[in-house]
Amino acid sequence: MEVNKSIGCNVSECKYHYKKDSYCTLNKIEIVKHEPMAKTVECTDCASFETMK
Ligand code: SF4
Repeated sequence: MEVNKSIGCNVSECKYHYKKDSYCTLNKIEIVKHEPMAKTVECTDCASFETMK
């Protein structure tokens, strides 16, 4: 998987994490909110996350 230096990420538990540095390897990710109105950073998440097999 190729590193995407436009998407910084430190979720090393994710299948798409670039293990050698704090980046994602996907070309595009989906960011979602899990409350009707996002008021803090905790209201947002990466919906492209997948667990490692
Ligand atoms: S898919 Fe989301 S959580 Fe997974 S490495 Fe990429 S940005 Fe991080």
